Amino acid sequence: MNKIDIKSMTIEELEELLISFKQPKFRAKQIFDWLHVKKVLIFAEMSNLPKSLIEVLDESCTITNLSIKRKLVSQIDETTKYLFELPDSEFVESVVMKYKHGNSICISTQVGCKMGCAFCASTKAGFVRNLTPSEILEQIYAAGKDIGERISNVVLMGIGEPLDNYDNVIRFLNLLSNENGHNLSLRHVSLSTCGVVDKIYELARLKLGLTLSISLHAPNDQIRSQTMPINNRFNMDELLKACKEYANTTSRRISFEYALIRGVNDSEACANELASKLKGMLCHVNLIPVNEIKETDFKKTYPKNVVNFQQWLVKKGINTTIRRTLGADISAACGQLRRDNL
Ligand code: SAH
Repeated sequence: MNKIDIKSMTIEELEELLISFKQPKFRAKQIFDWLHVKKVLIFAEMSNLPKSLIEVLDESCTITNLSIKRKLVSQIDETTKYLFELPDSEFVESVVMKYKHGNSICISTQVGCKMGCAFCASTKAGFVRNLTPSEILEQIYAAGKDIGERISNVVLMGIGEPLDNYDNVIRFLNLLSNENGHNLSLRHVSLSTCGVVDKIYELARLKLGLTLSISLHAPNDQIRSQTMPINNRFNMDELLKACKEYANTTSRRISFEYALIRGVNDSEACANELASKLKGMLCHVNLIPVNEIKETDFKKTYPKNVVNFQQWLVKKGINTTIRRTLGADISAACGQLRRDNL
């Protein structure tokens, strides 16, 4: 019999479970506290529960635990990359970044990725499976324990496409922000998608308060379809329409990610075309020189051109920032995460 993944359960579901064990409902909050606040990894440590209940829990449930298989710390900026081993011996990576305003973690949502973006390392070894809500959460808990500090910002920008694992990601967000648990406001969470349009509409309706980032990386369908297969499923018009709807429904500014690739999407004409498409939308553009990976020939745009591109956009009235690259010496930057153990 498969054991129940108890860390993926809401308090209401725990209450149901306890009723099925003929135990009082109030134990649900106690167990939730042990799992999501004290973050214990064995039932025996839940010292305010009766022994009989601990035995039942041990028999029927499991507490998801990720072990740190490898940890690399950047010599440049203290960014830390973890390779976590999952209960079935698959692997994912997560990255902790230390900022003045607190610790931020970039987490994975799938083992591998199906999306096939040409410039991204995370997709190169294919897709294995979705992460469970507890496996997504546990990256935050395990890294927090390792650094001995609270993690206060979360970005879903690691391996995988969060909106391709929609139900587990929504459940994860509910657990993460539960006031009886880790209690992280979703204002401190960013979710990044390559553009799964139908799910953007669903997400908008939930009004969760998180920041939506869109991996845009091109000013038109011709360039976008060359590098991002998702564009053949949902084109740019459809994507930008969904983004407008998201911004209107949630009053949250959309963040467009744009990795500058030399000779592909980094010309002044590209900037002007991008600006004309985004004009009037509640949004900003985040530029990043593409990180080079071994499987492709894509090159970073020239450093001076990053600033030029920013100015071209700003001149057209588009709010634009340049993203700092962190953890480059340990392959922890955007698009460099992998699920292998090499
Ligand atoms: N699948 C989601 C979540 C991954 S986020 C998404 O596509 O948004 C990872 C971010 O890094 C995305 O914005 C992605 O487009 C970007 N990225 C991927 N490869 C990159 C590279 N080589 N250089 C810079 N950014 C890259």
